Amino acid sequence: MSGLLRIRWAIAPKIAPRPLINCNRCRKVKPYQCSGKFRVNANGKRIDAWLIYRCADCDNSWNRTIFERCNRRDVEPALLAALESNDPSLAQRHAFDAMALRSRVGRIEEFPEVTVRKELLDGRPECTTALWLELRLEAVTPLRLDRLLAGELGMSRSRLQAWEERQKLSVEPDGAKALRRPARDGTAVRIDLAGEADRDAILSAAY
Ligand SMILES: [Zn+2]
Repeated sequence: MSGLLRIRWAIAPKIAPRPLINCNRCRKVKPYQCSGKFRVNANGKRIDAWLIYRCADCDNSWNRTIFERCNRRDVEPALLAALESNDPSLAQRHAFDAMALRSRVGRIEEFPEVTVRKELLDGRPECTTALWLELRLEAVTPLRLDRLLAGELGMSRSRLQAWEERQKLSVEPDGAKALRRPARDGTAVRIDLAGEADRDAILSAAY
């Protein structure tokens, strides 16, 4: 028996990133919020689709391009139907795509709040000597890996750091430097719990 307890954390950011837009009504740079609504413009054979954002202060709107001047034949009917009905999961997918948003507007505001769904994959808690945490991110987050671990496991970041220095904690595939960077999809964290007096408390927080 290996004593390894494998756990998956499915991590979802709670708040969509907000583009910082030079609002022509407020006359200064303001965060805009996703409205969850699309605008579709079908002009003959050409279709445009935008996701609508609104100024957090004055409600002015800004249209984020999803696609522009697309040939109607190239747009999947299911996608068109989803856009026209403001499908919430489609809107969410675009709203949380921070990379695409940043490449469109340059500056965005991001939020570290996440929800974490924990699932025991395999192993027996009563014989656990080490934890293996697999991270699955539903969208990118600015939340640092060490803050995520400390928050979810109920411990200080300095304890995590000390574990890392004593090689009781390791991060794959990016190594220890990943602790101080935003948590990434596909990261795995191994923590050796042998000899830790509060092992049971850590385990009950872990899944
Ligand atoms: Zn405004």
